Amino acid sequence: MGILLNIIYLIATVTFVVGLKMLGHPETAKKGNLIAAAGMGLAIVGTIFVHEQQVSPIIYILIGAAILIGSIIGWLIAIKVEMTKMPELVSLFNGFGGASAALIGLVEYGKNVNNATQSTTIVSGIIIGAITFSGSLIAWGKLNGSLKSVVRIPYYNIINNITIIGIIIFAAFMVATGVDSQLVLYALLATGLIYGILFVLPIGGADMPVVISLLNSLTGIAAAITGILYNNMVMLVGGILVGSAGIILTVAMCKAMNRTLGSVIFGAFGGAAATAGENKALGSIKSTTASDAAIMMNYANNVVIVPGYGLAVAQAQHVIHELEELLTKRGVNVKYAIHPVAGRMPGHMNVLLAESNVEYNMLVEMEDINPQFSNTDIVLVVGANDVVNPAAHNNPASPIYGMPILDVENAKHIIVNKRSMNAGYAGIENELFYNTKTSMLFGDAKAALTDLVAEMKKIQ
Ligand code: NDP
Repeated sequence: MGILLNIIYLIATVTFVVGLKMLGHPETAKKGNLIAAAGMGLAIVGTIFVHEQQVSPIIYILIGAAILIGSIIGWLIAIKVEMTKMPELVSLFNGFGGASAALIGLVEYGKNVNNATQSTTIVSGIIIGAITFSGSLIAWGKLNGSLKSVVRIPYYNIINNITIIGIIIFAAFMVATGVDSQLVLYALLATGLIYGILFVLPIGGADMPVVISLLNSLTGIAAAITGILYNNMVMLVGGILVGSAGIILTVAMCKAMNRTLGSVIFGAFGGAAATAGENKALGSIKSTTASDAAIMMNYANNVVIVPGYGLAVAQAQHVIHELEELLTKRGVNVKYAIHPVAGRMPGHMNVLLAESNVEYNMLVEMEDINPQFSNTDIVLVVGANDVVNPAAHNNPASPIYGMPILDVENAKHIIVNKRSMNAGYAGIENELFYNTKTSMLFGDAKAALTDLVAEMKKIQ
């Protein structure tokens, strides 16, 4: 039995690694996800059925019922969720992962108070799990708009640091004394929950994806700790993979925004209020029509499309693909410029465009496309704002100063499609819209692009 279970765990571990590798490319990502999920399913079935202990049938019924209910809820949520709501969902899932680790810790603590190694593992799981749970719920509330973006209590940095140091001392006391009290145990849980809230509340705006990725890696660490507790290799490896992948993603996103992790956790990015309307200091704007834009694009040699969050909101990925195919048929060289944090989650634009079967080799990463903008006749920006904001280069006072952007202003003409002059996620004005080379094509992305395609078809 033991050997069989180990073989099952080994197979599951291999599927996790292979699945993770396949997630690195849009063409293989879906298959990779299924392979890893199948491995996880195998590990769960193995854990439940392959052992030598006598287990009462009622336990199997309870586990089966829990799996069934969880699967139905998860399945319903997953088929219903819109792409733009995906970060919120990820945030909730992280939270539940953390809550599971904390609950396991609560159950196991009393049985292990006399073993310092085990109880260290358990209290670590409770603390990390509790922080992940409450922090993820706050992140979820901020992303869906039910919580104000940034809440800062006076001296929050000092208070946060004192709180976490206090929690660590408290946990060390529990392990050292082997105290076996439910009250003390729940007090530890409560302090972890409070710290999770204090930790995420002051972080705002465009830094939320980094926080979610960090919380995701904490979930992995909590799972790995539980793996150590139960001496369960597949749980340990799964946790380590999630933990390390989350950390790598966190660092990659910080790099894409030119921010340090410290400045994300303690900084003030994204707190600015949204500005709207025409800004006299920046000059005037020029608007265009679908028919003029169609003529310009039809006679261009090189066109670069810059997708952003608005494209996802409008669900305009299919119509943009139609436009791109039309242009390509007419001999125009078309590419998509992909900014690493365009949209509301890492890889958002890649997933969205893959959904409408855009050829993957037409997507060009920021570093590769930036030198090409000076040879580009027309850039069509669709529902993107912060990721093309030149303030990142020329305004040291801007909260996005230093963030790498798509240098679309170097192109010969820029057509920007959005509904109004409202700001993007970072809540700041964009001087690109006032550039003399820029024409604004106002309207919902799907409607505007549908018009553009119709006008394009009229041109022989
Ligand atoms: P932005 O949020 O900067 O801008 C999106 C623009 O789309 C808005 O200005 C809005 O203008 C327009 N828009 C909204 N709805 C529509 C619609 N139906 N049709 C046409 N336009 C629409 O998006 P970007 O993609 O440029 O930048 C992403 C921002 O989000 C960055 O600040 C990034 O840091 C942050 N972020 C990124 C995450 C990630 O991991 N990728 C996660 C969370 C945040 P209007 O209202 O006038 O239409």
